[in-house]
Amino acid sequence: MIPKKGEGVPDFVLLNQITEKDFIENLIIRHKTDNIYTYIGDVVISSNPFKRMNIYNESDIKAYNGRYKYEMPPHIYALANDAYRSMRQNQENQCVIISGESGAGKTEASKKIMQFLTYVSATKSSTDGERISKMLLESNPLLEAFGNAKTLRNDNSSRFGKYMEMQFNAVGIPIGGKITNYLLEKSRVVGRAQGERCFHIFYQMLKGLSQAKLQELGLQASPQTYEYLKKSQCFDVSTINDQNDFKDVLKAMDTLGLNQNDQSSIWRTLGAILHIGNITFAETVGDKVGTTSCKVSDQKSLAAAANCLKCDVQTLSIALTYRSISTGVGKRASVISVPLDNAQAVFSRDALAKALYEKLFQWLVTKINTQINSAEKGLVIGILDIYGFEVFDINSFEQLNINFCNEKLQQLFIELTLKSEQEEYVREGIEWKNIDYFNNKPICDLIEKKPMGLTSLLDESCLIAKSTDQTFLEGICRTFEKHPHFQSYQSTKDRSIGESCFRLKHYAGDVTYDVRGFLDKNKDTLFGDLIACLQSSADPLIRSLVPAAKPEDSKKRPVTAGTQFVIAMNQLIQTLLACSPHYVRCIKSNDNKQAGVIDEERVRHQVRYLGLLENVRVRRAGFANRQTYERFYARYKMTCKSTWPTFKGTAKQAVEAILASHKIPKEEYRMGKTKIFIRNPTTLFSFEEKREAEL
Ligand code: ADP
Ligand code: MG
Repeated sequence: MIPKKGEGVPDFVLLNQITEKDFIENLIIRHKTDNIYTYIGDVVISSNPFKRMNIYNESDIKAYNGRYKYEMPPHIYALANDAYRSMRQNQENQCVIISGESGAGKTEASKKIMQFLTYVSATKSSTDGERISKMLLESNPLLEAFGNAKTLRNDNSSRFGKYMEMQFNAVGIPIGGKITNYLLEKSRVVGRAQGERCFHIFYQMLKGLSQAKLQELGLQASPQTYEYLKKSQCFDVSTINDQNDFKDVLKAMDTLGLNQNDQSSIWRTLGAILHIGNITFAETVGDKVGTTSCKVSDQKSLAAAANCLKCDVQTLSIALTYRSISTGVGKRASVISVPLDNAQAVFSRDALAKALYEKLFQWLVTKINTQINSAEKGLVIGILDIYGFEVFDINSFEQLNINFCNEKLQQLFIELTLKSEQEEYVREGIEWKNIDYFNNKPICDLIEKKPMGLTSLLDESCLIAKSTDQTFLEGICRTFEKHPHFQSYQSTKDRSIGESCFRLKHYAGDVTYDVRGFLDKNKDTLFGDLIACLQSSADPLIRSLVPAAKPEDSKKRPVTAGTQFVIAMNQLIQTLLACSPHYVRCIKSNDNKQAGVIDEERVRHQVRYLGLLENVRVRRAGFANRQTYERFYARYKMTCKSTWPTFKGTAKQAVEAILASHKIPKEEYRMGKTKIFIRNPTTLFSFEEKREAEL
């Protein structure tokens, strides 16, 4: 942990001055000298190298296993090791919260942590422990195939949030795991920005399935055949080998107990989605004046979709082009069938494709969980890898949810780092001075507060038949007219906020959201006719994707997508609060996925919104280093005549003797109840030098 010349300091609290300039300079030097990890106390800052680093070998895992953080250069393994040790020593659940924007390295970090934990726990474990470890690791390629996609920012971008809990028994042997997933970006199934891809699995499957299997599903190997894939004009990615990845997926499916029937049903569902995307409609003149209806104009795709879904062609055709509506009550109750026009049919077709995919993904997560979950709860290390803050040219409902999630996690970070620090000073009897920081609460409230937050107002709009996206926008513009974090064109006359948009001032920057589609996305309904159609499938897995509604459910208001997400986020926060937290803050070094390049402007922006400087200041609060008396004494006893080779007295008295023998001035340190607090890093280095001289 001693700084090497020309490689910057390994912990930002060791900087001589805590200024933004010094911070960024240090980060850049670290990056350029291939030191991608730097600490802020217990927090790991990681800057994405965009190249293979020779620091994740078995020998590296062994080197960090069981060691103390200060003994080794900064590494994600040191954090994993700390979490594992604390879990066993304190018999306490741990969590690792990984944050950073898209492409910053969150998913890679989470995999490195899992790799370390499975390795070190397996060496002491039973064959059962090894089997569990293997399943936990194999869940990664499987879920990434279905939940990740190539985006403009990241060739392997996670399009869902994930909290993976690894369960251990009291001595640290793996006994199971549990995955909680959050909000899959299902709109990607039917469309996405130019140059991006749909979820990896579609391309993998077309390249990897046998000719016979493709034929059975009526599929062509070329992704260009399918509207849903063709749209964004991106098929192959230089950094991705779909064929090889598909083999890994099959292997993972075997390891995780997905049998041939399950696998077959999965390909059917995916095949059906591709065929559904090719279905087109033609408008027909209605029987009554003024009505329009439509019929499927592409019988071949329709038949192929029905074949994959194992349902009746005619049933599917009608479900796509008509909608049943119940009218009347009591004896007069009846169901009438209303024809859809072309646009409505396209909408319901896409809704079907998205719902099928989302439900398949959920089925997969549930299936993995039934395989890995242990009846015994044991001790847990949870790893949170969730989408980072997103700002696109056009931001919609999905971005609002994702950015809300980041606000919540940032708030948690601030509360926990500040709180635990403050508690330590109080516990040790050291005086403490408050430090200002960005408070996320007002903006979290703006979104989630009941009954007048954005989510509640959106739910209300969804209940009123006459509401549109535009009336929703007008409503929120009135409600939040004076809110410091809310802006609209009306309130600012700023032309960069479009007529269908509002802007939120997030902690990470301003984001303009376009409300078009908000109501539909929030309602997230799949028409009953399509549900009934899927329930008529001869494939048990497809049937199970749409469980029949219970009669008592029909009276309840369905929980909207937005509200579901807010509830899930608050549950997540409660789970995290019950653990001892560890933090990884990932920094994206440049926007071109380039090795050896670190873009100062981009880094500055991230350092600012992640609040890293405040983090250093809080951490230091005047003291660069703290350690227990025992550790300090053990490490520096050889530098002082009265403590070497032995000392009669307490560790605290020994430390006092060492400090006195080197004439360290009183203002340079404070003696807490169990720890010594050292003000300047140079003081600590001088001890290190004296120690070196004696060895
Ligand atoms: P995020 O999950 O934050 O969106 P990823 O973890 O998927 O980002 O990282 C994006 C890409 O950056 C990876 O595919 C990989 O190419 C590169 N990368 C990230 N972390 C590392 C690392 N520690 N070493 C080498 N390359 C990395
Ligand atoms: Mg990711």
